[in-house]
Amino acid sequence: MQILLARTQGFCAGVARAIDIVEQALIKYGTPLYVYHEIVHNTAVVNSFKERGVVFVNDIREVPDNGRVVFSAHGVPPLVLETAKQKHLHFIDATCPLVTKVHNEAIQFSQENIDVILIGHKGHEEVVGTAGYVKDSLLHIVQNVHDIEKLNIPRHKKVAFITQTTLSVDETRELILKLRAAFPRLTGPQKDDICYATQSRQDAVKELAKLCDLIIICGSPKSSNSNRLREMGEQLGVKSIIIDNANELDTKILSEKKCIGVSSGASVPRYLVDEIIAKIKASYPDAPITSFDNPEEKIIFPSPKI
Ligand code: SF4
Repeated sequence: MQILLARTQGFCAGVARAIDIVEQALIKYGTPLYVYHEIVHNTAVVNSFKERGVVFVNDIREVPDNGRVVFSAHGVPPLVLETAKQKHLHFIDATCPLVTKVHNEAIQFSQENIDVILIGHKGHEEVVGTAGYVKDSLLHIVQNVHDIEKLNIPRHKKVAFITQTTLSVDETRELILKLRAAFPRLTGPQKDDICYATQSRQDAVKELAKLCDLIIICGSPKSSNSNRLREMGEQLGVKSIIIDNANELDTKILSEKKCIGVSSGASVPRYLVDEIIAKIKASYPDAPITSFDNPEEKIIFPSPKI
C-alpha cells in the first residue's frame, strides 16, 4: 500500500485570515468574545476556541448590547450588520474577501434592477449572507436543474447569475450552461464565483482519483467544500469517505487497498490530517507517503487591524 497526499488541501487564505482574526481579538480583548456562526466549518477549530471562552451564536440578538462579536468567514447579510449597529456591538468582520467580492456583485446587479439567480445551497450561511444583498423581488436561489426549470422569469429578460464560492466546479458549469440556454441575455462574472481554493482542491482530488482505490477526505459535516471533495471522488468511481478526525477512521476500510489518497477541506488544520496518516501508518507501517510542497503558500489574505 502507498499513501498519496493531495497536492492542494487544508487551510485556504480566507480560513487562515478568519482564524487569525479571532486569535488577535482574543489576545487584544480577551473574553467575553462572541462569534456569529461557526468562524469556519471545522469542529476542532470551533471547539478549541470554545475551550478558550469564545461563545458562538446563531442569532446576533444573543450577543449582549455593547458586546464584541466577530462575523464568520461565510459573511453576513446587511440585516445582521444593522442589528449589530442598533445593539452598539463592537464587531470585527472576518468575511473572506472572495465572499465580499460576491456581495459586491450582488449589490451591483440589484442596484441595476436585474433579476439575480444565486446558485448555491439553500440555507448555507454564505448563501443566506449573499442573498441579503439582493432585493427580495429580484432574488432567485437555485441549487439544481429542477430549480432552473421552475424559474418564473420571462426568457427575454436580462438576468444575472452569481454563485456560492464552494460549489462543485463541474456541476456549476453545467448549471450555468443551462441558464445561458434559458436566458440568452444572461450576465454574471466571467466564469463563476467559485474560489481558487475550492477549484484547486477539487483538481487535486481528480488527480488522486486516477491513482487511488480509496480517498479519505478530512472535513466536518457542515463544510461545503469538504463534502464536494468526497462527492468528486465518488463521481470519478473511487470509494471516498469523509471523516472529521482520525477517531472516525475505521481501518477495516483500508484492507486490500493499494493506494490511499488523503485530502482535506479548506477549513481543516493540518494536524488532523497528520493524525489520520499516523493511524493508517499504525496498521501499515511500510506504506510510503508521497506529498507535495504547498503550492498555495504565497496566497495570503492579510487580516484587518484589530
Ligand atoms: S474556501 Fe474560498 S471563499 Fe471560502 S474562505 Fe476559503 S478562499 Fe474564501
